[in-house]
Amino acid sequence: MHRIVIVGGGAGGLALATQLGKRMGKKGLAEITLVDAARTHVWKPLLHQLAAGSYDTHAEEIEYLAQARWNGFKFRLGSLTGVDRQNKTLQLAASHDEAGREITPAQQLGYDTLIIAVGSQTNDFGTPGAAEHTIKLDSPQAAKRFNDRLINACIRAQTVPRVAGSGRLTVAIVGGGATGVELAAELHAAARVLANYGFDHIHPEKDLQIVLVEAAPRLLAQLPERLSESAMRELRKLAIEVHTNEKVIEVTADSLKMASGKVVSSSITVWAAGVKAADFLRTLGGTPEGGEALETSKLNQLVVNGNLQTTRDASIYAFGDCAACQQPDGTWVPPRAQAAYQQAMYLARSLPDLIAGKTVTPFVFKDQGSLVSLSEYSSVGSLMGSLTKGSFFIEGQLAKFMYWGLHKQHQLALGGFKKTALITLSEMLDRTYRPRIKLH
Ligand SMILES: Cc1cc2nc3c(=O)[nH]c(=O)nc-3n(C[C@H](O)[C@H](O)[C@H](O)COP(=O)(O)OP(=O)(O)OC[C@H]3O[C@@H](n4cnc5c(N)ncnc54)[C@H](O)[C@@H]3O)c2cc1C
Repeated sequence: MHRIVIVGGGAGGLALATQLGKRMGKKGLAEITLVDAARTHVWKPLLHQLAAGSYDTHAEEIEYLAQARWNGFKFRLGSLTGVDRQNKTLQLAASHDEAGREITPAQQLGYDTLIIAVGSQTNDFGTPGAAEHTIKLDSPQAAKRFNDRLINACIRAQTVPRVAGSGRLTVAIVGGGATGVELAAELHAAARVLANYGFDHIHPEKDLQIVLVEAAPRLLAQLPERLSESAMRELRKLAIEVHTNEKVIEVTADSLKMASGKVVSSSITVWAAGVKAADFLRTLGGTPEGGEALETSKLNQLVVNGNLQTTRDASIYAFGDCAACQQPDGTWVPPRAQAAYQQAMYLARSLPDLIAGKTVTPFVFKDQGSLVSLSEYSSVGSLMGSLTKGSFFIEGQLAKFMYWGLHKQHQLALGGFKKTALITLSEMLDRTYRPRIKLH
């Protein structure tokens, strides 16, 4: 039977494994295997909420093994390290538990069609001190680490007498794109809730100083200017200190240094600027004898054609954040959850024909717009309307509802209507008896 292996069960890979499992795996038309370095899936756009503690990781996590059992695919735990294109096998590193004991040995896995969807990582552009002194919000573990430090810092603030000008907790966020802006608002909301739970030394405006630093002249530089202005207005209302046009050139344990000479002190620094794909992709598919590796972009992404096939090997596909896919108009598909989702749906539909060697219409990204959540305060966004032939802006409750809809779309792709309705109901019930934010 034809073996399809998908590496990476993120926003794109898990949706694809689920769809292919239902369409091909369950019917015995192909053997579908999903490989991921982790055992559970967390939808990445929720990471800023996990970091602030306003979303419970356990409620959101999906167990790969259970999802595989229910949807006609297999799951293998392992981290991709190499691909032998000649023999069509991939290499997975050994995995270990927290005490360093081996869980799975290094493994090899055969494939007929390989699909790589390993996502991206935060890019600190080699800024001195960034690797040692910042938390990068690009994995559930990093979000949890940030949350632990935040709660510990709040508990500490509780025990230290308030002295004017000291004992204050400053969280500096580098990067005023969607992730940085969303995290800033989410932290402010979390501090308000923490104050209600007895952390009365953490007054959101007086004791928790949130600083957002952006190198571009405005926040949300990828989005229309009007949205930057709305976001800036909302953040100012929350007393969040915003520095635009300020490039961070060095990070220390307790400060950020900017190219302008400005220095901002910081108790916890989050790096949320820029993305790149993992370094190991640069040599993937090459051989020690000098055999050619798969083509990659400057950001380590695997370069793919319109059918999402890598340019040097038609049996290897790549999509989502780890792929560089150029559109007919010359633009590149952006590293966004909606792009990964659309590509997953494209491959779920087209793979049977592509494997059979038939000609398939290339993938075209349909930008549905962008939404930025300012926690419970507001949301801003632009939607692409076919009727208006361009983008139109939304703010407030409608934008908040649309933002929530993005997550529901992901849950629908993974679990169908009934399961999504039950999850939504359980989330509503959960909110009636649990604290609104995680306190441990
Ligand atoms: C804080 C934050 C907020 C965001 N908000 C939004 C938003 O509001 N809207 C939006 O459109 N986009 C948003 N994004 C971007 C969005 O999350 C990504 O574009 C999307 O998750 C990409 O999907 P993917 O499937 O390519 O990769 P991912 O979802 O990152 O999944 C990659 C998977 O590969 C696995 N993996 C990685 N390396 C290996 C390996 N070597 N071997 C095996 N498995 C591996 C990982 O464990 C993971 O499960 C946000 C991102 C962040 C970090």
